[in-house]
Amino acid sequence: MTKQTQRSNSHFDIVIAGGGMAGSLLAWCLSQARPELRLAIIERQTTDNVDSTDAAQSPPPASFDGRSIALAAGSVNLLQRWGLWSALADKACPLRQIWVSDRGHFGKAHLTSSEYQLDALGQVLEVEHLGQLLSHKLVKQANVQYFQPDHIVSITPTSASQQLQLASGNSLSGNVLIIAEGGVSQSRQLAGFNLSSDDYQQSAIIANLALAQPHQHTAYERFTEHGPIALLPLSANRYSLVWTVARHAAAPLMALDEPTFTATIQQAFGYRAGIFSGVGARAQYPLLLRRPSEIVRHRSALLGNSLHNLHPIAGQGFNLAIRDIQALLLALGSSAEPGSYTMLQTYRQLREQDIKRVIWFTDALVRGFSNNSRLVALTRNTGLLAMLLCDQLKRPLALQAMGQGQHYAKY
Ligand SMILES: Cc1cc2nc3c(=O)[nH]c(=O)nc-3n(C[C@H](O)[C@H](O)[C@H](O)COP(=O)(O)OP(=O)(O)OC[C@H]3O[C@@H](n4cnc5c(N)ncnc54)[C@H](O)[C@@H]3O)c2cc1C
Repeated sequence: MTKQTQRSNSHFDIVIAGGGMAGSLLAWCLSQARPELRLAIIERQTTDNVDSTDAAQSPPPASFDGRSIALAAGSVNLLQRWGLWSALADKACPLRQIWVSDRGHFGKAHLTSSEYQLDALGQVLEVEHLGQLLSHKLVKQANVQYFQPDHIVSITPTSASQQLQLASGNSLSGNVLIIAEGGVSQSRQLAGFNLSSDDYQQSAIIANLALAQPHQHTAYERFTEHGPIALLPLSANRYSLVWTVARHAAAPLMALDEPTFTATIQQAFGYRAGIFSGVGARAQYPLLLRRPSEIVRHRSALLGNSLHNLHPIAGQGFNLAIRDIQALLLALGSSAEPGSYTMLQTYRQLREQDIKRVIWFTDALVRGFSNNSRLVALTRNTGLLAMLLCDQLKRPLALQAMGQGQHYAKY
């Protein structure tokens, strides 16, 4: 990986705007699937020492922060196929059962991996491990060039390419521009994509919690009158907490000292998962649903959160991004011209339905479980109870958690 510092005017087959989780993973997969292609990554944030060849010493790229993500079993299979999982497996924590419940109401649903003859429903991974691994691997790819810290300031389409002017003064062109800049993306706007957004007026507070007793590889999602609380099991007997609260309530919770925060989350969640004995660093994220009206435009495509910025209630954002990458690999195949009409339309067709379905499912969960009307509470509790009793109803929730049935055969 080369960090570009002086002015250049270069042509690339594929330019990736945003070197976060989705952009870096795509770069790695493309560098393996189509090694003859020249790739550029434009990343706004700085990471020092990117030339380190020691994975443990390589700082992760931006976007690989303190959060942990639940990877569906289908996503883990893909990471395995792409040559990454063997280096991550011992850092991840298998997810063997999930309890979904509604605080103060009777409804509960319980999913176990054994019901589906699986070792695990998914795996929970601290994203910094993926960041370090990708950083380490991309260092060695001669066909990947980094422009960092940098960002696109203007985009001029021609029939065969996108001409890009960067803030540093560099000019690049690419047969296709893949935009993976996260939910708030300047290049998406410059490329002419329209966006609709719904602000849930909620924030997610994340932190790791230490547990006084073993977590038994169990995840909990508990809906409270203020929003869902999710606990994902981590290695070393910790839980990753994602606590959704009303936007105005986030700052006071962030300001609490550690013992008071631990006591507050214990009280909000209850004792079902055991006793929390400590808390690590906290971070907060405003929660919105952002969705562009198109997936592709002339010689450009959206990927990851730039394409679907979801509420984390169902842990689907990065799992969707992994399926976006799989579809891009399939659309490019072994010989398709990057950015051709056929390639872009294949990508659009492969992604359209899955993204729509997951957005609908996630948004319905947020709205259904944020509603305190007695009728809505009764309906959702009956639904949870029915899921507990009936495998046919539970199956869609389980398939969603496992991310199965969405993956395309070849990549
Ligand atoms: C609290 C929380 C919990 C979550 N839990 C889960 C989970 O359990 N499972 C799951 O699947 N997903 C989960 N997600 C979602 C997941 O984190 C996202 O889907 C994922 O981060 C998307 O990666 P991305 O690369 O698309 O975007 P980002 O992570 O936002 O990365 C975007 C990158 O682009 C760079 N950038 C931005 N603007 C520019 C620019 N103009 N030019 C160049 N570079 C730019 C940024 O610096 C960054 O490096 C969770 C999200 C949150 C907030």
